[in-house]
Amino acid sequence: MPEAPLYDVAIVGGGPVGACAAALLARPAGGPRLRVVVLEPQVPALPAAGAPPDVRVVAISRASERLLRAAGAWARIAGPRVCAYERMHVWHESTGVAGASALVFDAADVGEPNLGYILESRLLQAALLEAFTEAGGELEAAPLASLEVGEDRVRIATARGAIHARLVVGADGAQSAVRKAVGLGAEVRDYHETAIVATVATARPHALTAWQRFMGNGTLAFLPLFDGTSSIVWSADETLAARLLAADPAAFAVELDRASDLALGATRLVSERAAFALRRLTAPRYVARRVALIGDAAHVVHPLAGQGVNLGLLDAAALAQLATAAAARREDLGSLGVLRAYERWRKSEVALMGSAIDTFDRLLSHGNGPLSRLARQGLGFVNRSQELRRFFIRRALGMTGELPEAARRGAPAG
Ligand SMILES: Cc1cc2nc3c(=O)[nH]c(=O)nc-3n(C[C@H](O)[C@H](O)[C@H](O)COP(=O)(O)OP(=O)(O)OC[C@H]3O[C@@H](n4cnc5c(N)ncnc54)[C@H](O)[C@@H]3O)c2cc1C
Repeated sequence: MPEAPLYDVAIVGGGPVGACAAALLARPAGGPRLRVVVLEPQVPALPAAGAPPDVRVVAISRASERLLRAAGAWARIAGPRVCAYERMHVWHESTGVAGASALVFDAADVGEPNLGYILESRLLQAALLEAFTEAGGELEAAPLASLEVGEDRVRIATARGAIHARLVVGADGAQSAVRKAVGLGAEVRDYHETAIVATVATARPHALTAWQRFMGNGTLAFLPLFDGTSSIVWSADETLAARLLAADPAAFAVELDRASDLALGATRLVSERAAFALRRLTAPRYVARRVALIGDAAHVVHPLAGQGVNLGLLDAAALAQLATAAAARREDLGSLGVLRAYERWRKSEVALMGSAIDTFDRLLSHGNGPLSRLARQGLGFVNRSQELRRFFIRRALGMTGELPEAARRGAPAG
């Protein structure tokens, strides 16, 4: 029987996060060339030119843009299907959209051309997978069947045969089979909210602005899209969400107009509605012998701040940086020393962001007590201070915290 091929790294899951880790590992800046394989049963094609926007879109930060450049994917992404947004307009239902307590972040305040980009998840994923295969990476269109961790390698079984790898990366999403196979647990907390996602046409132009309204029973965001429409993410308490999903398109638009305070004028649904039950997930450990979890396999946060992919891309870059450095020193890139350094780095950053998002959700989307009132006033307070606004804009750009080299550098890797 032929010997199973041995890879330096096998990545299970070629979603945006796994694909980014793969593309960065396959073209290390200065280090040795690594042999990398990705297992992904659902390989997407790039969206067709002229097709309406997909329902699943993501907001990505400046730090993520730089990582995508370093991964060799940005040239495939930048183009007519991406919307660079320049402003964020945030307000609470207790004040009007144009009230003094609304918070407006403008990229110009910090001398930046924009605050980030809204793009289809499929475009992000397909561009990264293309960059990976172009750099010599191998893509197996098969799911993981099982894995067995040995002393110096992991044996992975797929429907297409067996492969061996020094390091296995679990990038297979919230239901991660890798996490379960190696006994890494997950703490899950239900938000009892459902996110409804859809594309809408609006009477007034979106003005390259992301609009977000906090309400007593959830949060509503309008993300500007490349064709002038907007993508809504409406995180609503379960009962309201069930009613909204059951409503016909015209009745839904009436509810949406009310909830949006007509910030963009009357709305009209131009896509189906997709629904996501919202849960916070935290893996207490991100690593085990020869195994590391990244992205949603390690942590899922509330979508209200649009940070899930951005956090995952930083995981991918941190792990790629540490693994590449270990390989350059001729060390075992699957050793626990390397993996623990990754876990220490990323767990604290993710915990900080996850808690901040939960505080916003608790105080601005649901609370009514004195702290909630203070938080609402805080929006206006931040808006009146240029210093505080700049501080939050830099956070929104993702340019704070301990960033991987690729997020600071951004130039294409060698
Ligand atoms: C409503 C909503 C809005 C959001 N908006 C934003 C936003 O604006 N900005 C942002 O940053 N984040 C956002 N997020 C979060 C973001 O969608 C996720 O964090 C992101 O998709 C995680 O990427 P991932 O690659 O880790 O996992 P996934 O996207 O779940 O990808 C996992 C991949 O693994 C594959 N897979 C699964 N099982 C196996 C297996 N056994 N073998 C091999 N492959 C397997 C799957 O096919 C899939 O391709 C949002 C989330 C929601 C719910």
